[in-house]
Amino acid sequence: MSTSLNLGTYSGIKVQIHWTFWLLFLFIGFLVYSQGGSWQTLFWHSLFILCIFFCVVLHEFGHALTARKFGIGTRNITLLPIGGVANLKKIPENPKEEFWIAVAGPAVNIIIALILYPFISLETYSAMDAETLQEELGMITSGNFLFYMFIANIALVLFNMIPAFPMDGGRVFRSLLAMKFGRVEATRIASGLGKFLAVFFFLFGLFYNILLAIIAVFIWFGAHSENITIQQIDLMDGYRIRDAMITEFTILHPDDHLGIAVDRILSTTEQDFIVMEHDRIKGILFMADLVSALKTIGKHAQISDVMDTEFSILNTEEPLYSAYKKLKRDNRNFFPVTEYGRLVGVLDMNNINEFLTFRSAFDY
Ligand SMILES: [Zn+2]
Repeated sequence: MSTSLNLGTYSGIKVQIHWTFWLLFLFIGFLVYSQGGSWQTLFWHSLFILCIFFCVVLHEFGHALTARKFGIGTRNITLLPIGGVANLKKIPENPKEEFWIAVAGPAVNIIIALILYPFISLETYSAMDAETLQEELGMITSGNFLFYMFIANIALVLFNMIPAFPMDGGRVFRSLLAMKFGRVEATRIASGLGKFLAVFFFLFGLFYNILLAIIAVFIWFGAHSENITIQQIDLMDGYRIRDAMITEFTILHPDDHLGIAVDRILSTTEQDFIVMEHDRIKGILFMADLVSALKTIGKHAQISDVMDTEFSILNTEEPLYSAYKKLKRDNRNFFPVTEYGRLVGVLDMNNINEFLTFRSAFDY
């Protein structure tokens, strides 16, 4: 089931709205209702939200189109109630590229604010006394709409530039650090600051703004996982698949019945198997498929009926980190490894994790 609404493709980038986005309108409705607002107020507030999110989409296009300049594609731009995300196909490794991609988003909001500036009269508002100001700006109306849009764009710039990695400001911070200390150390420092600020946002948000508390959770986990990934890739630097692959494993035959695989799973630590015939890899038998097949066709069925025949093959000489990225992307993370076309090993996430454990424990 797709949980996102597709808004179309622009400049080759798909824009979609996550289903949770609509909760925002419930929230706005509740807010307006609880303050005794009219239908008109609800209309202006909803229109305001739509316009802000339009600015957010342009902000994300700022990131995505700058990334494209550096040869990095974007899978999609997704709108969530807490903001937008441009899902880049990869995170730029060059700090200068990361810097420009990160600043391009807020730069778009600065441009929007500059365009709006001639249409609002800041002087009129600054000349008002507090009471009149409260009356003028208490609710969004047709009269103060552009002023609110202006302020919102400035707020987007200021908020996004807070150096809470992986927010834009945090990416700028990391890229600057990376030019001096290298990417691994820079990420460690930036994600530490990101997590610290996230805790602060969370506590503050709990009392004053629940959206901020939710954003804080995303920042914390985003900073944490990106740091772990970078540190792990660093541990794999210079190693090849050969260094981490499993070399003792069971090979099954397509004509074997499922019971043989069940016996192997129970008597060893293996879960998935390479299926071979006449020295050729015919498929992979995954434990998950085995379990569902046992329920429907029973254990006397043949492995050839259940095995997955679409699989990719790794090579012993490939860098380990590239296999790791492949394993992370794919939910079927068990691959045969060959050398000169001959099967010599298998690789799965468990083994990479074991490799990382030993690498971080001592210089393996
Ligand atoms: Zn951004």
